[in-house]
Amino acid sequence: QWINYKYMAEKKSKVIIIGSGPAGYTAAIYAARAMLEPILVEGIQPGGQLTITTDVENYPGFADIIQGPWLMDQMRLQAKNTGVEVINDHINQCNLSKYPFQMNGDSGTEYIAESIIICTGAQAKWLGLETEEKFMGFGVSACATCDGFFFKDKKVLVVGGGDSAMEEATFLTKFASEVVIIHRRKEFRASKIMVERAVSNPKISFRYNQTIDEIIGTKDTGVQSVMLKDTLTNEITKETCDGIFMAIGHVPNTSLFKGMIDLD
Ligand code: NAP
Repeated sequence: QWINYKYMAEKKSKVIIIGSGPAGYTAAIYAARAMLEPILVEGIQPGGQLTITTDVENYPGFADIIQGPWLMDQMRLQAKNTGVEVINDHINQCNLSKYPFQMNGDSGTEYIAESIIICTGAQAKWLGLETEEKFMGFGVSACATCDGFFFKDKKVLVVGGGDSAMEEATFLTKFASEVVIIHRRKEFRASKIMVERAVSNPKISFRYNQTIDEIIGTKDTGVQSVMLKDTLTNEITKETCDGIFMAIGHVPNTSLFKGMIDLD
């Protein structure tokens, strides 16, 4: 019997959603309820960034604290129950100059869609220091829930002044003996409640108007200290530490669409 392998590796839908974070699942559930028979392609990190967080207390509808991975499991099940086809694949190429639109997945599958909903989320930003790259995985991280456990009874730094920095610092106090928040200004971008929580935590202290100039250590010892630069006076000081968590925001995962749609 003749089998058309090419056809088997092709998926067509009126609507294809790229990404499986809350935005992707929300879009998928609404598209399914509109009888559009959507396909959702999960991407490299099924469930998105909430799968690497723990306590979620600001998602409406839950009086008690819930867990990020659990919340994403529920969204996935809800989408499947409404008829969404969830596919574990990663879109690596996209052609928007053809209609219907065409995309390719890592699995070799070709996806054809009349509409695409882009829900590709974001990934952590880095400072861009040479020494930061050198110590990634050796004391430098951007995910406290992933790597915090390695810093039991150690001193860690958290860089940033937004909600992520406050949240990461507070979370790290479960393991670390001391957490120092390094912020380039004196005012915080973070919400008041998150700042208050960090300020009232006896394990957390702050160094204002400081940026990391250099990270010091060896591959054997890991991170041992940083050289901080005062943003007002340029004065350089040393701060010892065993680990550094970057929490300076995120960049959107939109490079797939560069040159095809306007990105800001
Ligand atoms: P953010 O709000 O953009 O804050 C980034 C912080 O990093 C800012 O304080 C910024 O300093 C600093 N920064 C940026 N680039 C830097 C650099 N090169 N060197 C040193 N510092 C740098 O990002 P976020 O904290 O990840 O939060 C993103 C969004 O998620 C926000 O809307 C936030 O409310 C939300 N969020 C909410 C929760 C929660 O409610 N539980 C938790 C996490 C995140 P400046 O202030 O000087 O610009």
